[in-house]
Amino acid sequence: MKRVFSGARPTGRQHLGNYLGAILNYVKLQEEYECVYCIVDIHALTTLTDTGKLQYNIREMLLDWLAAGLDPKKSIIFVQSHVPEVTELHTFFSMVTPLGWLLRVPTFKEKARLQPENVNYGLVGYPVLMAADITLYKAEVVPVGEDQLPHLELSREIVRRFNGIFGETFPEPKAKLSYFPNVVGLDGKEKMSKSLDNHIELALTPEETAKKIMTAVTDPARQRRADLGHPDVCNVYKLHEYFNESQKDDIAEKCRTAQIGCVDCKILLAVRINDYLAPFRERRIKLEANPEYLKEVLADGALRAQMIARETIREVKKKMGLL
Ligand code: SF4
Repeated sequence: MKRVFSGARPTGRQHLGNYLGAILNYVKLQEEYECVYCIVDIHALTTLTDTGKLQYNIREMLLDWLAAGLDPKKSIIFVQSHVPEVTELHTFFSMVTPLGWLLRVPTFKEKARLQPENVNYGLVGYPVLMAADITLYKAEVVPVGEDQLPHLELSREIVRRFNGIFGETFPEPKAKLSYFPNVVGLDGKEKMSKSLDNHIELALTPEETAKKIMTAVTDPARQRRADLGHPDVCNVYKLHEYFNESQKDDIAEKCRTAQIGCVDCKILLAVRINDYLAPFRERRIKLEANPEYLKEVLADGALRAQMIARETIREVKKKMGLL
């Protein structure tokens, strides 16, 4: 089995956008690959000001991952900083990465614009740490969306340069282009995101979920019940497409002919989403009641990851003349 690596910042409770955009794919990949899934807490330090919430966010994210079907028996699930070898490899990679490569990365420029008071080295070195994340575990495959391809290309360039100078050491990680649907938030405009507060958390109760859905912006042209609707531009309809496959065509037709009102349409969506998430919520409650198990999952994941990491670091040190 080829090895897959994917990392995600600890953003706490996951929302429907995270679920449809990444977690579902993580779960599927477990059947075909040896997966290494990492909660990248060190990366979070470049922008996170409130580090007091870090442990809470890690725990909540882990709960969602496990309840959604990530299986610690199949995959290595761990926290980045629990395997400190990654910082060692990051330092070694920083010696072969020209500064010019990093300064031209668009996300660095964007972050520097957003936080001009804190343009720290971590922001510049982010792609180097990312390359270390992937290669420390000799991952061959990285699931990415189209927009992340340039980042992975930079990791591949760093690997090529290292291999060129010190001899073949790392496989060049290949992109597994995955379809990450751009789930629009409740505002009907922006991508679903916590920072924009336009999201629906997976762990909400059925009542809270329904309440959130009732706030969703729909087809702006549909002001009254009698107005003909346009499901193609409606955010609520997009969610019907994901969670109400069997009725979506019927709803589209009824919307276009004003046979269904937006309130009823939202109530129906809430029912579907709550049905869909019922087993998830049941598993999450059970997991939440067992904090020792969560600790075990992360400790076991870190142990397994570290076994691979130590081998890699030994090999790298030898090649670089440090041993
Ligand atoms: S009826 Fe449903 S699909 Fe049509 S505009 Fe209203 S919420 Fe959207």
